[in-house]
Amino acid sequence: MALIHNLGFPRIGAQRELKFALEKFWRGESNQTELQNQAQQLRKQHWQVQQSLDFVPVGDFSLYDHVLDTSFLVGNVPERAQQLSGSELDNYFRVARGRSADDTPCQQIFAGEMTKWFDTNYHYIVPEVTADTPFSLNSDNLIAQIEQAEQLGVKAKPVIVGPLTYLALSKEKDASSRLELLQRLLPVYQQLLNQLSQKGVLWVQIDEPILVTELDSDWQNAFHTVYNALSACPINILLATYFGTLQQNRQLVAELPVAGFHLDAVRGRQEVEACVEQLSCHQVLSLGVIDGRNIWKTDLNAVLDWLEPISESLGDRLWLAPSCSLLHVPVDLNSEAKLDAEIVNWLAFAKQKLLELEVLGKALNQGRDSVVNALADNAAAIRSRQTSSRVHNPAVKQAVTEVTSNWGQRLSPYDQRIAQQHQKLDLPLYPTTTIGSFPQTPEIRKIRRAFKNQQISANEYTDKMRSEIEYAVREQEALDLDVLVHGEAERNDMVEYFGEQLDGYAFSQLGWVQSYGSRCVKPPILFGDISRPQPMTVAWTQYAQSITDKPMKGMLTGPVTILNWSFVRDDQPRRNSCLQLALAIRQEVQDLEAAGVNIIQIDEAALREGLPLRQSEWPSYLDWAVESYRVSANGVADTTQIHTHMCYSEFNDIIEAIAAMDADVITIETSRSDMELLDVFEQFDYPNEIGPGVYDIHSPNTPSVEQMVKLMEKAGQRIPAERLWVNPDCGLKTRQWSEVRPALSNMIDAAKQLRKRADKDHDSAQSNIESQCVS
Ligand code: GLN
Ligand code: ZN
Repeated sequence: MALIHNLGFPRIGAQRELKFALEKFWRGESNQTELQNQAQQLRKQHWQVQQSLDFVPVGDFSLYDHVLDTSFLVGNVPERAQQLSGSELDNYFRVARGRSADDTPCQQIFAGEMTKWFDTNYHYIVPEVTADTPFSLNSDNLIAQIEQAEQLGVKAKPVIVGPLTYLALSKEKDASSRLELLQRLLPVYQQLLNQLSQKGVLWVQIDEPILVTELDSDWQNAFHTVYNALSACPINILLATYFGTLQQNRQLVAELPVAGFHLDAVRGRQEVEACVEQLSCHQVLSLGVIDGRNIWKTDLNAVLDWLEPISESLGDRLWLAPSCSLLHVPVDLNSEAKLDAEIVNWLAFAKQKLLELEVLGKALNQGRDSVVNALADNAAAIRSRQTSSRVHNPAVKQAVTEVTSNWGQRLSPYDQRIAQQHQKLDLPLYPTTTIGSFPQTPEIRKIRRAFKNQQISANEYTDKMRSEIEYAVREQEALDLDVLVHGEAERNDMVEYFGEQLDGYAFSQLGWVQSYGSRCVKPPILFGDISRPQPMTVAWTQYAQSITDKPMKGMLTGPVTILNWSFVRDDQPRRNSCLQLALAIRQEVQDLEAAGVNIIQIDEAALREGLPLRQSEWPSYLDWAVESYRVSANGVADTTQIHTHMCYSEFNDIIEAIAAMDADVITIETSRSDMELLDVFEQFDYPNEIGPGVYDIHSPNTPSVEQMVKLMEKAGQRIPAERLWVNPDCGLKTRQWSEVRPALSNMIDAAKQLRKRADKDHDSAQSNIESQCVS
């Protein structure tokens, strides 16, 4: 009998209940007991949804982040949070976000650094360690959840982050080697497993997703050390890996004496048979056959075809599960009243994925006949998606095959076209600009909402938006910026705005996925071949250009970013979907150009995020990502200036790909690192123009003129002044005008000072030459 289980359930709640409970608590409108009660209530609901499983995850719930929970579990609380008054929960929120409810300024601390959990859009709080970090078991929180589950009769399988993944994700605050900390961390895990065993727990799931990344021999050896030690504890360990294939680590995993292991059988389907062979005769193999990273229905019949023989040979040593925790998908498709019925029929959110699991389990254990209707429905849905004319647009598929490498090529090399652009645009040295958005005021949101709810007509909406654009233009003129933007007032989100206007995209109403803490995102659903029925931004940009003599920069989101921030169809390579997006953006670029817009910025904020987990796989991703960008951007005349923007400048390892994008100007985030991130430009001669952000838009503070001049001087040590632009780090939509005005005004003063200085240098160089001539 195959068993079914789950690796983790979304904690945020189908209606984002956890988000609202947390934010209420942080505002001081509820107390800790109320917050904990709501957490208990949510866990109970989530366990109820999972009651037909043979094992239900416990400990996957978190009030902020499960890696931060692990830090508290192993007693690794940053020193700066240790002496503060308040409860453990207060300290937990202080590390998570700098402050707890009602904190006075002296109780606030630096929040822990936050970064992406593997290749997902979930962010965890990076554990901080030093050579002397003491570890000690602090399992009250986990035990309380296990006890709650016990009382409710839940077949609990506690879930914890494994010690090696924990150390691999932590950041050394000094030069110590993280692996040396194992000798103190491992006993804590041993103690925990013993405690769980005493609680009557049979199986514990230990997550070690770093097994799908490249590990050197030290880390491989550490796996032997850790799992030899932990396997001696009186409890069954299910070692879970996910998000990819094991490759060179497969042999290692086979050698570990654990009671069972879990494999991502969606991304690692090709490794399943080899893993079955390597299994020892009493080990359990859990196969993640349902995609925990995407929202499509599983083709159940196809899965059964390859699963049945394995089930026959493994019997009850075969477990089935989603590929990874369901944290990365929305909770319940049944909440989607407005989503088109045809599309709904192709989708499965967390709850629906668990139902699929049930059907698979039953089919294996009692024969396909026992679930004949469910399998027939599933087959019909799969067929409907495969054949739908809404998914398949022959004209788009044809267009993609016609793309040749010329499409990504500008007409002339950079040197030639930049000279033409300078002549046409006639900008000063150190030209100033912004990254696109201006403050999204309550008024702007109100107008968008009213239009969406059909409370105002399209004409009224256009008029109101135009006056917002005019406001932004007049502000920029008064500030004396050189290259203006229209301000993006009409955009709710830089991806959704484009998705909504492209054919092949759908939008859920409640398809929220946790991004960090109480923050969620609602990724649009790219379900079909992408086409652009009509221009998406031209009217707004053209209007903005018509009311000013200064150059207006058109603003687009690039194909790679649109792709990386969406749920993407799984029935064709991502590369193909990206190229389709690229063609749609290319049309938009060309329409903007034809409308007289001479500068066009194509944002690729998420290009880096798409990098595969294994560095050896980077080149093939970068190849098609850069190619897609080039196709979108480069079909313009030499005189049209193409900009791109990225919200980071960690370019060291991908600088060649960035340069290959061949944007005339790239604006990047650098101010927080004091321009240190520009070091890469010392070794690599980046050929085109650069705008290294001179101030951090995340902060409400006004940057001083001197500060920004200094930063630009630092930049000038690596990049010649003729190729430098002056701009903020990113868009200004989260700021207020009262913050933006003085900050930009200082930024422009800084640029003017730099110009004056450059003039003086030029004059004195000139007079030197002249005096040399005389003598
Ligand atoms: N053009 C966008 C803006 O200014 C860019 C945002 C981003 O890079 N994340 O808001
Ligand atoms: Zn940005």
